[in-house]
Parts: sequence; structure tokens; C-alpha cells
Amino acid sequence: MTTENAAATAAAADPAPLLIRGGRPYGEQVQDLLLAGGRIEAVGADLEAPEGAEVIDADGCIVLPGLVDLHTHLREPGGEEAETVESGTRAAARGGFTAVHAMANTTPVADTAGVVEQVARRGDSAGWCSVRPVGAVTVGLAGERLAELDAMANSRAKVRVFSDDGKCVHDPVLMRRALEYVKSFDGVIAQHAQDPRLTEGAQMHEGVVSAELGLTGWPAVAEESIIARDVLLAQHVGSRLHVCHLSTAGSVDIIRWAKQRGIAVTAEVTPHHLLLTDENVRQFDAVFKVNPPLRTATDVEAVREGLADGTIDIVATDHAPHPRDAKDREWDQAAMGMTGLETALSLVQLTMVDEGRLSWRDVARVLSETPAEIGRDEDQGQPLEPGSPAHVLVWDPRPVRVADPAEHASLSRNSPFAGLELPGTNRLTVLGGRPTVREGQVVTR
Ligand SMILES: [Zn+2]
Repeated sequence: MTTENAAATAAAADPAPLLIRGGRPYGEQVQDLLLAGGRIEAVGADLEAPEGAEVIDADGCIVLPGLVDLHTHLREPGGEEAETVESGTRAAARGGFTAVHAMANTTPVADTAGVVEQVARRGDSAGWCSVRPVGAVTVGLAGERLAELDAMANSRAKVRVFSDDGKCVHDPVLMRRALEYVKSFDGVIAQHAQDPRLTEGAQMHEGVVSAELGLTGWPAVAEESIIARDVLLAQHVGSRLHVCHLSTAGSVDIIRWAKQRGIAVTAEVTPHHLLLTDENVRQFDAVFKVNPPLRTATDVEAVREGLADGTIDIVATDHAPHPRDAKDREWDQAAMGMTGLETALSLVQLTMVDEGRLSWRDVARVLSETPAEIGRDEDQGQPLEPGSPAHVLVWDPRPVRVADPAEHASLSRNSPFAGLELPGTNRLTVLGGRPTVREGQVVTR
């Protein structure tokens, strides 16, 4: 046992039993939950508190399985000014997450067993949530030759999700080979669908607003043409494809078509693409600069509809922290990306639940169960039933607060939601029976 593991084990020793009283699992009828020994021990009405148990009053709150993010940029190694495994997983816990999948575009790139094991180890020793590394598809994200996919899959990090995210696997032969390769260990290729030639110098969504502002446009077809090609490749190879941060109405149509044909494709949408549009870019505030770009109101409506009808499988944050000097620049010089872990569930509540388009049961599916399943993580996204691991979120949907990134645990402040009134607050995140967040604050220990 390494020193780190020993420390983690000691820290994890017997948390006190927790009785979550009076909450509504999945937003349905009131049931108490008793957590003990790292598992859910009982679910039912009026459970008795065992001796030494802590009782949490969850009256009026929603109880969900801990959230799982399939698309997080933790920036470590190499980008510690923007985020670290420690700070990013604290941010995740504040957002109600008990697991994140850490994207591979770090420095060095997570394209070997050594790097993915290092990231997983940092996650274990931080202890705020489970960290599952995503492996790069190609060496150095260069798009030229396949990385050591099997070495990463067979490493202690047990990588199942592979992505060059930030870049598109553009070469169809490489994409085909990658899809073939991951079949043997039930992996999935998560594609960042962006034709690089069609988006050279692109600054924002191509449309009326880009024309008026005189900025180089990023056409919807640059995303849609890659998705169309990839679903056909996935069908041809008989392998699993996951489409990252789908953002256009046309992309939703292609996924819907592919699913009707039985192609094994899953898709994600980000919280920001559920709310913001290219009209926000008129402010020329680089906090709205993101990849893929904010699209039109028609696209926002289409992705909401796709999420509501199950065409889009999950919500994933694409949490992309950047230091201030990378964002406080002229629009064309600023970095692309937004933070998202600490606002994700509020955004989903605002745009989907409060609009009557998703139930809380659906929220458990799109933010916990299905992302865990896509990532083949059997410890996460489990039902709120006796015997399941005690990864639990208690969410109060009633308070409305003005979002303030200064309160965030993330090291970065590039949230586009600052100043917006957002519903809901995190009362409690529990990881393996141990609280990581209470009343919105990361626990001290
Ligand atoms: Zn991406």
C-alpha cells in the first residue's frame, strides 16, 4: 500500500452513520435515507436514527444519487494556475458531483498509462470526488497516430473514455481505427466534433450576429458534418461513439436519426448551451467565448427538446477554467471556455425542471446514471436503494441566489453566469458515506 493510499484509507475510516430525514428521493414521495458503512443501508418512511448517527433535516429537498460529470477539465498536470485536481474536485463537490471524468488535454497530455495513473492518484488523495481520467485518442492530441489505448485501459486508472477533446479526431482512418480498438475493452470514443478547416480563425457562431459584428463565423456544419461521418463510422465498425457538447439543431437531428437506426451513439449538451445564445457575444465580454460557440435561440430550443425527449443522453459541464489573463483580453485573443461545475445543476433546474421539461427522476438519469454508464463506472450513478454506494446529493430547489463566481471553489472565475439569479442550493454532498459539502461549503478537515 502506498503512503497516499494508507492516508486515504485512514481518512475514510468509519464516518458516522447519516440519516437524511424527510427529503424526496428523485423528487418523488418523502423517504428517509440511512447511510452507514459507506453504503445506503435503508430507505423508507420514518427510519430510526441508530446510535451516534447524524440526522440531516432534508424537509423540502430533493435527494439524488451523486452527480457524475463526463467532461471536466481539471488542468493538472501543467495548468495549475487555472485549476488543480484538488481545487477542481472541490468545485465538483460544491456542484453536487461525486465523480468527474478528467479530460486529457493537460501538459503533458494524458496519453500514457503513467499520466492517467498520476491523475487518478491525485484524485484519490484529494478525496473530494472520484476522478476518472479520460485518455487521449492520439499521441499528444496531434491527430497523427493512436495513443497507447490498451495500456491506459489496462492501467490502474482503468480508462474507458478516450477523447482528444479540445481537438477533433479529424482523420477518418484514425477515427475508424480508434473505434475498432476500444471495442475489445468496451471503451468509448468521445469526439469533439469540429472540422478544423471549416473553423479556421473562427471567433463565434456563423450567422446574423457574426455578420453584424464582423467576426469570423463558425458554421453549424463544421460540427454537424463530423457527427454525421462519425455515427456512420460507429455503425460500420459496430463500436460506441459519444459526441461531446452538441450545440446545434442539426446535430440533434443527426443523433435522432442515428438512434432510430440503432447506432450505438450517445450525446451530451452543456448547461451553457441550454441557456446562452450568440446574442450574448454582442457584449464582447470574453467570458462568453467558448468552443463550440454559443449558438442561436433556435439551437437552444432544439437542444432543450433533444434533452427532454432522450435524443441527448446527458448533461456534461465542459468545465474549462482559465486564469484571468487568458480571458481579460480582446475577444479575438481570449481563450475559449467557461467554468461550469458549480452552476450546472442550477442551470438544469432553471432551463429544464422549472420549465416542466425534465422531472427530478430525469435529472438523476442525465446527470448521474447515464454518464456513469457511458464511462463504465459501476460505483457511481447507482439507484438510491439499500446496498448502493453512499454517493448522495441533497438539493434544495427553493432558494434563488445571485450567482457570484467569487464564492466558487474553482481557482478560476470565468463563469458566464455571474450576476444571474439561479435557483437551488446544495445542502449536502456525500461521497462514500462521508460529507464533502455542507450548506454549500466544502467541509474542512
Ligand atoms: Zn471540446
